[in-house]
Amino acid sequence: MSTFLLEIITPDHLAYSGEVDGLTVRGIEGELGILPGHIPFITPLQVAPINIKIGKEYTSIAVSGGFVEVRKDKVVVLAESAELETEIDVERAIAAKERAERRIGAKKRHQADIDFERAELALKRAMNRINVYSHLRK
Ligand code: ATP
Repeated sequence: MSTFLLEIITPDHLAYSGEVDGLTVRGIEGELGILPGHIPFITPLQVAPINIKIGKEYTSIAVSGGFVEVRKDKVVVLAESAELETEIDVERAIAAKERAERRIGAKKRHQADIDFERAELALKRAMNRINVYSHLRK
């Protein structure tokens, strides 16, 4: 079976670069499967895992938004942050989740100084990291 190059780039590093058989990403309109020879397109990504298939192996990467660009020769993901399942500090993600939940709870109790949207985004990033980490341990 043919493969293609996948690159996942964040503002501070090349998070992933390698030949893959396929991947799934969560675009703003839902889950998208990308296989060799897919027609070129660009779409924004949700805060969600990217699941990569390499031979018989599957790997997940937690990605916090950004874009995927399918080109003729490769697929490029530009993400705000990206962590392989082995790179995730789950204690940190659990602490971030609890912090965000406390802020969301405070907002619901009408504390006007809490930025609800920011807390919701932080919660999404933390949940995504916890889910990707848990997938590794299944
Ligand atoms: P925190 O509140 O714990 O900093 P955050 O969601 O605000 O979490 P980001 O702004 O998304 O963090 O990421 C900042 C940097 O820290 C990025 O390089 C990201 O890859 C890394 N990072 C954040 N959380 C984790 C984690 N749980 N494990 C590994 N790397 C992480």
